[in-house]
Amino acid sequence: MSLVMSLFSKPKAVAPTLMEKVDKVAQTQLKPLVREIDEGLYPEEVMRAMGDAGAYSAHLPTCGVEPDLSNTIRVMSRAGELCTSTAFCMWCQDALGWYIYSSENDDLKASLGAQVASGAVLGGTGLSNPMKTFFGIEKMRLKGEKVPGGYRVKGALPWVSNVDEKGWFGIVFDVEEGGATRRVMAAARGEAEGVKLTLDHDFVAMGGTNTQAVQFRDVFVPEEQILADPIDDYLKRIRAGFVLMQCGMATGMVRSCIELMRQVETQLGHVNKYLEMQPADFEEQLEELEGEIFTLAQTPYDPSPEYFRRVLAARLAGGEASVTAAHYAMLHCGARGYVGRGVAQRRLREAYFVAIVTPATKQLRKMLAELPAA
Ligand SMILES: Cc1cc2nc3c(=O)[nH]c(=O)nc-3n(C[C@H](O)[C@H](O)[C@H](O)COP(=O)(O)OP(=O)(O)OC[C@H]3O[C@@H](n4cnc5c(N)ncnc54)[C@H](O)[C@@H]3O)c2cc1C
Repeated sequence: MSLVMSLFSKPKAVAPTLMEKVDKVAQTQLKPLVREIDEGLYPEEVMRAMGDAGAYSAHLPTCGVEPDLSNTIRVMSRAGELCTSTAFCMWCQDALGWYIYSSENDDLKASLGAQVASGAVLGGTGLSNPMKTFFGIEKMRLKGEKVPGGYRVKGALPWVSNVDEKGWFGIVFDVEEGGATRRVMAAARGEAEGVKLTLDHDFVAMGGTNTQAVQFRDVFVPEEQILADPIDDYLKRIRAGFVLMQCGMATGMVRSCIELMRQVETQLGHVNKYLEMQPADFEEQLEELEGEIFTLAQTPYDPSPEYFRRVLAARLAGGEASVTAAHYAMLHCGARGYVGRGVAQRRLREAYFVAIVTPATKQLRKMLAELPAA
């Protein structure tokens, strides 16, 4: 083609990036729904559209390539700028995919794993109780017994989000055998016989997360659904990713609070300038935090205690920055943030979730206090 022709021909269409696709879903589908989600609507169409955009597959390990969690954290953060319920549901979905693809169960990767990665199957994780159990805070709520072809599991989990009867979620149960206890991890199915889900909406925020109390009444979990037996080495593989990906909720929250503070600068800046923390302070914090998160996101399978310590510290900083930024967004916005439809009060209620979802601030502090010093 001559130079003249190429100058006048149509530019080649460039495929939108993951972030551009997610941004479009966030702006066109999520943004109009955020109040309804706060009131209890589960944003299923948004969750499916995020799957179509590729939001749940960017972090998944493929043959021989070390996974990088950065883009998954970025897109979760983008949703979190608008709505923490949605960002959390995305984390639930990402965590389930992370468990499956970090396991050695290749059949499950090809079947359920692929459907979770695309958002065709929605699901989550019932790992709060085990995560607290591993670090000496609670007792394991699920017990399993070896039976031909799998395990029979009983017990109850108080909260599992992003699931309904069609959903799948990660579980861990104790198995007593020969006088010893071992821990087994599996993917569980909401529709399995003996599983009962009861929707729980009774929260100050996060109403749209499809959070269920889950009972297991002698549920048969077949070997095909086992992710790790025993869990010990596998847990070291998945734990940093589990914790680090949650930082997407935190950075989204902080960025949105900075934006709320900036929105009232022209009208209220003359008095807001006396508040102890200003948007520029949070911008600086956010830049530092994201720098650390995106560095850590490149090596999520690093087994060293030093690496895990840095992950816990980043997650702790994220939870604390979320609550502080939301607190200051409220103070900067004043009465316009305090009304029923005010954004600042919704963000403040949501921000506390970032600090109390497992691992909660207090658990993170316990873990950091107990991890061997670097
Ligand atoms: C909206 C929402 C969604 C969640 N989604 C999930 C999920 O998808 N998967 C998952 O595994 N976990 C989920 N959780 C649980 C969450 O991760 C934390 O484990 C939970 O918030 C408590 O953590 P904590 O460490 O602060 O424990 P704490 O709240 O300090 O202690 C927890 C213990 O307190 C007791 N307790 C709890 N509620 C009450 C109550 N109302 N009255 C008396 N005692 C009580 C129970 O024994 C419980 O084990 C969800 C929680 C919420 C609020």
